[in-house]
Amino acid sequence: MKLSKKILLSFDYEPYLGAKSGTAARCLLQPTNALRTILNKYNAQSVFFVDILYLLNLKKYSESNNDITAIIDQLKTLYAEGRYIFPHIHPHWIDAVYLEDKKEFSLNDLSHYSLNKLKKDKINSLFAESIKFLQEIGISYTKWGYRAGGWCIQPFSLIKDIFIAKDVYFDFSVLPGYKNIHVDQAFDYSMVTWNAPYWFSDAVETQDVKGAFIEFPIYTIKISQIAETKDRFVRKYLWKIGDRGWGDGISAKTSAHTIIFDKEMMAIEILNISKLRGYKEYVQNEEYMHWLSHPKMFTRHGLKMFDRFLKYAENNFDLIFDFHEMIPPPKK
Ligand SMILES: [Zn+2]
Repeated sequence: MKLSKKILLSFDYEPYLGAKSGTAARCLLQPTNALRTILNKYNAQSVFFVDILYLLNLKKYSESNNDITAIIDQLKTLYAEGRYIFPHIHPHWIDAVYLEDKKEFSLNDLSHYSLNKLKKDKINSLFAESIKFLQEIGISYTKWGYRAGGWCIQPFSLIKDIFIAKDVYFDFSVLPGYKNIHVDQAFDYSMVTWNAPYWFSDAVETQDVKGAFIEFPIYTIKISQIAETKDRFVRKYLWKIGDRGWGDGISAKTSAHTIIFDKEMMAIEILNISKLRGYKEYVQNEEYMHWLSHPKMFTRHGLKMFDRFLKYAENNFDLIFDFHEMIPPPKK
């Protein structure tokens, strides 16, 4: 009998969030279609967190009609294939500037990068608009999930009643061992060490078995010096052969301030041949792995390695992909 392993695959469905957003085709549509081929092959359930404020911005400009139509079609396809489609809020879209000549956005103003920079009323309306957008295109749940833009969901007390009012019970924002002290993107998960979903009530970083919400922490791994060196070499090679990632935008400058450097997420965009063996070892040793990937940053090589990883995992283990099957038992 094969051992069972929980592999939670989550994706941030978004363009770039800095000086240049990039195009819908390159940042979202094309890499997501390449990904779908692999997910379908392994019948892999997964969760897509949609940057709804980007879509609401696209809707304002008639030139982007084709983009918004294509994105909605893709979201409907993903939903029809059984993927979960939940909101992902990057609040600084409220300050985005449309670049008419490029038909892209500039998100240079990062003063509202973190949700807690906004007034409660505004946060409430952003949640309401986001869920309404999904419902209007036929995507609906009795219990919703959420991932905070830039992992900024602290203090949870600020939005707890919004979660309850909007039926949001699953959170996917905690990045164990990470901390960011940038003024625009502050979070602190350095005290979180559990690698398994847990119940919480008043704070995402504190377990509470009597809580109403469930946190699905992202799987973070320690990187050795040797692995880092090999990785650098492979990345250089991929760059040289032109496999530089799908997206064509520029990142926001805040993430560079994340501290605790020896950890990284499990992600398709940073997976390459130098890490494949390590990833296989993790699946042997762990029961739960939560990958967080960004289609905009996928390389063709990374997707190929992801395919190989899933093939290995499927051959050796009984795989559980649906996060509903990962919910820990509530306290009796
Ligand atoms: Zn994001």
